[in-house]
Amino acid sequence: MKPIGPIPAGYIAQDGELAIGGKTASELVEMAGRTPCFVYSKAHLDQRVAELRAAMPERLGINYAVKANPFGPVIGHMAGLVDGFDIASAGELAMLETAGIDPARVSFAGPGKRDEELEAAIAAGVTLNCESEGEARRALAIGERTGTAPRIAIRVNPDFELKGSGMKMGGGAKPFGVDAERVPALARDVIAAGAEWRGLHIFTGSQALNADAIIEAQANVLDCADRLAREIGAALPKLNMGGGFGIPYFAGDEPLDISAVGAVLKERFADLPASLTETDLCIELGRYLVGEAGVYLTRIIDRKQSHGVTYLITDGGLHHQLAASGNFGTVVRRNYPVAIASRFDAQPEEEANVVGCLCTPLDRLADAAHLPRADVGDLVAVFCAGAYGASASPANFLGHGPAAELLV
Ligand SMILES: *Cc1c(COP(=O)(O)O)cnc(C)c1O
Repeated sequence: MKPIGPIPAGYIAQDGELAIGGKTASELVEMAGRTPCFVYSKAHLDQRVAELRAAMPERLGINYAVKANPFGPVIGHMAGLVDGFDIASAGELAMLETAGIDPARVSFAGPGKRDEELEAAIAAGVTLNCESEGEARRALAIGERTGTAPRIAIRVNPDFELKGSGMKMGGGAKPFGVDAERVPALARDVIAAGAEWRGLHIFTGSQALNADAIIEAQANVLDCADRLAREIGAALPKLNMGGGFGIPYFAGDEPLDISAVGAVLKERFADLPASLTETDLCIELGRYLVGEAGVYLTRIIDRKQSHGVTYLITDGGLHHQLAASGNFGTVVRRNYPVAIASRFDAQPEEEANVVGCLCTPLDRLADAAHLPRADVGDLVAVFCAGAYGASASPANFLGHGPAAELLV
């Protein structure tokens, strides 16, 4: 038997089935029109943001990193909850524009921005978090050619990292950002060239569950920003402090203590250095905001035994849930939280392997999981599916097509 990850709070049984937004899993599948489907919950999104706002200093802006879940209705719902949006491509910009989001609320990070992407962002009035001197030069040239002063912030590659984070994105040689010691010279050039100076972006990592690690990274970010602002010799209109707030995916993971993070940040904000007193401060979060608000529902198509092992074979798989299959940046595969959604209040009574329908041994949704007895036709739920699910999985692989998506 292998443990399964912790089912996020707020998922209840109704008529014996998993229910989301007052609808049972079978009703949700009917609404979606098919399995597999992703179901995202507005109530979860609302509650998550409300709890975060209550914990954090009032002054702290909360941005949503669209790459975690770019489903149109999710973006539209987040528009009423968050202050800003962070994008990483012109494609994501187009999605925000379709959702009617004011580009003044948007900043654009990501290495390798093409000229067409820079041009679209500058024309729209999006803030560019420039990742290199070369990119800043190209943005300035496009601004000159098109007669629009680009809004430029500089993404800093800091000299520190977010400890214990799943993906390190700062410290040492990186394709992201401008090495901290070169930032002041570049900032002065950008300001002198007539760009609209928007400040700094310092992102140090992702998926951290340890409050002390986040507290330390945030302290380092504020110190680094203060030092750089003084060296630049101009105030920072804005400081994007990064994010990195994680969610529990695996057995033994504990939720991040946001009240501890918020308490320290409130103290820091009460005593900011002169360089930051007028600065618009924000964090940018992806999975923390949307990850636990999503569930992936897939139907059992076959139940079989092989050498004494029970396989529950579903119509879903890694083509929608690459991360849950263990193939998205993990070294050792562990089980995500899963359940038999159509028997959500039943007691576990057997050990089973839940697999997808793809013809590859990589397509596993749960290994040796202790589950209620399930049969053909039952629904399996994979939790923590609100972030890096549909959009971060190879939907074209093997021709099964994308999953349906639904916001309720
Ligand atoms: C991916 C990314 C995020 C979001 O990361 P999460 O772990 O989903 O919170 C935020 N900012 C930047 C710059 C990113 O690359």
